[in-house]
Amino acid sequence: MQNMAPLSQDVLTIPRKSLNGPTNLIGLTRTGLRKVLIEAGTPEKQSRMRANQIWQWIYAKGARNFDVMTNLAKPYRANLKNNFVLDVPHVVTKQVSEDGTRKYLVRIEGGHEVEVVYIPEEDRGTLCISSQVGCTLTCSFCHTGTQRLVRNLTSAEIVGQILLARDDLDQWPIPGINTREPRLLSNIVLMGMGEPLYNFDNVRDAMKIAMDPEGICMSRRRITLSTSGVVPEIAKTAEEIGCLLAVSFHATTDEVRDKLVPINKKWNIATLIETLRTYPKLSNSERITFEYVMLKDVNDSDADARRLIKLIQGIPAKINLIPFNEWPGAPYQRSDWQRIRAFSDIVFAAGYASPIRTPRGEDIMAACGQLKSASEKAKKNSIRAKSVTPAQ
Ligand code: SF4
Repeated sequence: MQNMAPLSQDVLTIPRKSLNGPTNLIGLTRTGLRKVLIEAGTPEKQSRMRANQIWQWIYAKGARNFDVMTNLAKPYRANLKNNFVLDVPHVVTKQVSEDGTRKYLVRIEGGHEVEVVYIPEEDRGTLCISSQVGCTLTCSFCHTGTQRLVRNLTSAEIVGQILLARDDLDQWPIPGINTREPRLLSNIVLMGMGEPLYNFDNVRDAMKIAMDPEGICMSRRRITLSTSGVVPEIAKTAEEIGCLLAVSFHATTDEVRDKLVPINKKWNIATLIETLRTYPKLSNSERITFEYVMLKDVNDSDADARRLIKLIQGIPAKINLIPFNEWPGAPYQRSDWQRIRAFSDIVFAAGYASPIRTPRGEDIMAACGQLKSASEKAKKNSIRAKSVTPAQ
């Protein structure tokens, strides 16, 4: 299978100090923040207090420049300005669907682009964030799988997706008022572009920042990391992040899963299920979500539903049935609604929650990776057009 070896972090991860300039304070852990402040001249004795103040400005108040940090003396702010920046990814385009779904195409260092999707619901709002530019894993139903992997996102770029969404949703507190209700951004899912377990350290640091009570303050139970099945890394999700786990399962035989999720050739269904059975923290209140994309005549039969139940027997689980979001050139079709409901009924009758995900944002190309591809195509067309324009 193509590119299946674990990724070299040296090649794929850009350093904290970018080649082009000062250190970005966003994305550093609390320890990391203290360290760089000391390096830039903050006395060690003061460093904890200063780090706390700056942390709260960034993650509790949404500060994007040092001038607003009025509880820091002016010369200290000037020193911060000379040494550091507060950079989040730049929003290139934002599309808002008729159903309220917002899709952002954001640009990061190096000119690369990734997607972020905000899905509002009646009682909450979920942000789907990306962890890599492109992906190595070539899942055949996934549009992102058609894009080559460029690099891992830094922790700043990962947590920056949350910050920019809060900006757009106007979710920072108003001075003098304690809370901003309702909380429009209440959940985070790492289900965007990339395999988060192949960028574990940056994902972990970014999620620790998101959970910090003096900042974004997201409960660990409101964060879900979705993996295609990187078996050796799965337990670390519970041990080092503590968030919920979802698995892109999608098939009930190795023959079919090898095609849909090719990482299955390395860690097959039996190995994956065994790892999930021993997943730390597994309980009825912290169930594993099995994601199952419904593909017409591929994985959607009654026999599939029954095999699925048998495979996961004994694992506290919820099955999310996802009607396939068709994209141009996709080799699959969405299962009929009747078929999806029949599948759901079988799973439900066996005692598992089996919600059918409502397709969202279909009018704004919500299949993961589509917006980035459209943007790249437009860029190429514009370059081609320029190159054939006769010189004046
Ligand atoms: S489904 Fe996830 S792991 Fe598979 S190709 Fe798409 S982004 Fe990568």
